[in-house]
Amino acid sequence: MTPQEALAEIAFRLERDRAEPFRIQAFRRAVAAIADIGDDQLRARAADGSLGRTKGIGGRSLEVITQALEGGTPDYLQRLRDEAEAPSSDAGRELLSLLRGDLHTHSEWSDGTTPIESMVEAARILGREYLALTDHSPNLKVANGLTAERLTEQLDVVAALDGPGMRLLPGIEVDVLEDGTLDQEPALLDRLDVVVASLHSRLRADRHEITARLLGAIADPHTSVIGHITGRLVEGRRGTRPQSEFDSARVFAAAADAGVAIEINSRPERQDPPDDLLAEAIAAGCLFSIDTDAHAPGHLDLLGLGAERAAAAGVPSARIVTTWPLDELLTWTHARR
Ligand SMILES: [Zn+2]
Ligand SMILES: [Zn+2]
Repeated sequence: MTPQEALAEIAFRLERDRAEPFRIQAFRRAVAAIADIGDDQLRARAADGSLGRTKGIGGRSLEVITQALEGGTPDYLQRLRDEAEAPSSDAGRELLSLLRGDLHTHSEWSDGTTPIESMVEAARILGREYLALTDHSPNLKVANGLTAERLTEQLDVVAALDGPGMRLLPGIEVDVLEDGTLDQEPALLDRLDVVVASLHSRLRADRHEITARLLGAIADPHTSVIGHITGRLVEGRRGTRPQSEFDSARVFAAAADAGVAIEINSRPERQDPPDDLLAEAIAAGCLFSIDTDAHAPGHLDLLGLGAERAAAAGVPSARIVTTWPLDELLTWTHARR
């Protein structure tokens, strides 16, 4: 492996383990610092000591670069690999192996931490067949949601990064507004492959309002997936938040009827939907999408946690849209438009 690959994988693994951002950034800075330097040049600079004085290269990064140049796996990377946790059950591992991609991810265009390129690179490392880029919509100002103009601009960037090895699908995580409509122009939504509709505001509103908003989102022919349906937070830096209350029988019946998938959000702080609602959605005949809601490359590897929950709940794999071949998936996301 090249020193750049070793540093990038370390940053990715630290993110997956949700390490402190400054530790992750140190390795990302090191990747950038040596991005355009060839191995021979790096060796020469390591030998004469100038590499260690290069801006962006700390002691640990220098050690990783040096060991990668010697041809082995750097010790620090090996330690992180050894510590990596796999899904704990056979059923979870088996389901994870069936998952082809991820329909809910963010980049620095909204509130993610890295360029789209880094997300694509990580998805490739993980062997994903495709990734939908779903940055936020204008209503979510705190997350730098994309205006119609910026989303239009992003579509060209996404098209340029799409390739045969790892398909990058244009998408959006669109806010479900208080009247149940989606927060982006329909003509623009028409150009996207994946529309994840999520509630991010007034999550404590009464049961009647939340139900109406979810039903509105499901009724919109652009919607493919309902993201983190209860909005709950069960752990993590942002603290906890109770789940939104809604008429789950009506909402899951409507989703099953429309063929809209209920997201199984893999993030440890979300674990959404909760077990009881997941069981109810299975019984209602819903489709599901196991997604990471990644805001950094390392988060893409959280998919195993979602697979573990889905397997434990007994979600039939045929009803998980991300196990389907990509052409079938795209036929499904465009079916109601
Ligand atoms: Zn969200
Ligand atoms: Zn999201």
